[in-house]
Amino acid sequence: MFNTSSPLLIDGEHLYGNRRFETIDPATGAVLGEAADAAASDLDHAITAAHRAFEESGWATDLDRRTRCLRQLREALTRHAEELRELTIAEAGAPRFLTYGAQLDAPVADLGWFADLAQEYEWERDLGRAAPMGMASDRRVVREPVGVVGAITPWNFPHQINLAKLGPALAAGNTIVLKAAPDTPWCAAALGLLIKDETDIPPGVVNIITGAGHALGAQLCADPRVGLISFTGSTATGRAIMRTAAETLKKVFLELGGKSAFIVLDDADLKSACSYAAFAACTHAGQGCAITTRLLVPRDGYAEAVQITAHTMKKIGVGDPNDDRTVCGPVISAGQRDRIEGYLELAVKEGGGFATGGGRPAGRDRGFWIEPTLITGLANESRTAREEIFGPVLVILPHDGDDDAVRLANDSPYGLSGAVHGGDLDRARAVARRLRTGTVSVNGGVWYSADVPFGGYKQSGTGREMGVAGFEEYLETKSIAEGV
Ligand code: NAD
Repeated sequence: MFNTSSPLLIDGEHLYGNRRFETIDPATGAVLGEAADAAASDLDHAITAAHRAFEESGWATDLDRRTRCLRQLREALTRHAEELRELTIAEAGAPRFLTYGAQLDAPVADLGWFADLAQEYEWERDLGRAAPMGMASDRRVVREPVGVVGAITPWNFPHQINLAKLGPALAAGNTIVLKAAPDTPWCAAALGLLIKDETDIPPGVVNIITGAGHALGAQLCADPRVGLISFTGSTATGRAIMRTAAETLKKVFLELGGKSAFIVLDDADLKSACSYAAFAACTHAGQGCAITTRLLVPRDGYAEAVQITAHTMKKIGVGDPNDDRTVCGPVISAGQRDRIEGYLELAVKEGGGFATGGGRPAGRDRGFWIEPTLITGLANESRTAREEIFGPVLVILPHDGDDDAVRLANDSPYGLSGAVHGGDLDRARAVARRLRTGTVSVNGGVWYSADVPFGGYKQSGTGREMGVAGFEEYLETKSIAEGV
């Protein structure tokens, strides 16, 4: 899709700007090429265009046009799926098998779901006549787009997260400035290319900004013309965004980090549950916000659970993301690898040990790699067990029954996701109900889907992405009363 350099999309034009930065293949460390490094003036231009398009293009009020354009975009992305697949594997280090699901094909298909939802949605509700304070009035509630959406996204699932913001924001009638992650500019720029060349989305409705640093994100949050910030990324950045956005009191919707628990109850099949947990922790080198990274097992079965989990993680190992058998590819950057290694050192300082892994895999001298690692011997209070590591690193902890497992799972600053495995379904369900998290999987159930709201309790975020709840994040509510 890009041989050398990728452009910005601003006001319907591809702009290469004056500055560029490199995008890297994390599996090899090789430079893939360059992306436009937007200046503050480029972002200002993009916000101006989005604001004008919202006010003047008729996009906000033309539902049929919006849904037709969204479906066009889905078709364009589908036509280019094989190029996008190679791009995603190369730039995000995503294992090929994931591109057939959440890394590409699923979020592209989901654009159709948002188009359908917008067409079926109840945009107006008649509340009927009433006479508050004796004054007869006909009342109705109208849903309207917010205006200019500033979307700020991370690198780990670039298409999933870019499209899970773009789809509902556009279906709802907003215009958008998407500020992509510095590590995956080409995945975002590809969207810009297809939007301009293969859809009728009017100029200014979607603007794609890539850049090497984080200052553009802060600028987007501060601009008074932006009505809503839809952010996915770390909890630390989410906090900074909320602070910046507070100045102009714009809506913020935050999808943040996690340290989710995988609970194995004492009536579960230990072998299959622990193998499942090992697979989850290794997927995409653990670089998923909702991946379960604390494994809580019955104390009596702890030694056996360590053995099963370590064995499975070792067997999974690391692999070339191009290979369709690979589960655990590289981590995104040297910085991320160093950060994970810092946590591995901390785990040892805190008294932990490695049942498998604990460093860089042998034979991978190029690129950025960490072995699947199982950490034993820590308490839930340790920093290693509490903080998000964002690598293929699982901490295993013993529990003393269902109440204790729930207590440990909920004893976390985060509340993004969780999993429960048990033999008695009612008992597993009861434990799931007690978890303070936005999503829970019971016995391997998959909650990821366009119609399922996703998001976090506590410091894992505010608001929901996807589902009807996710669509409604992009809407305002107006109540109109007519005197009669
Ligand atoms: P990050 O917070 O470092 O960066 C995310 C985005 O925010 C990037 O585009 C970055 O340029 C921008 N940014 C950084 N500082 C900013 C600031 N002060 N103001 C505005 N924008 C700023 O996150 P990351 O390292 O790219 O991604 C990994 C994190 O994302 C993990 O914590 C992970 O859990 C989280 N994540 C959450 C979800 C979810 O849906 N809850 C999904 C995927 C990833």
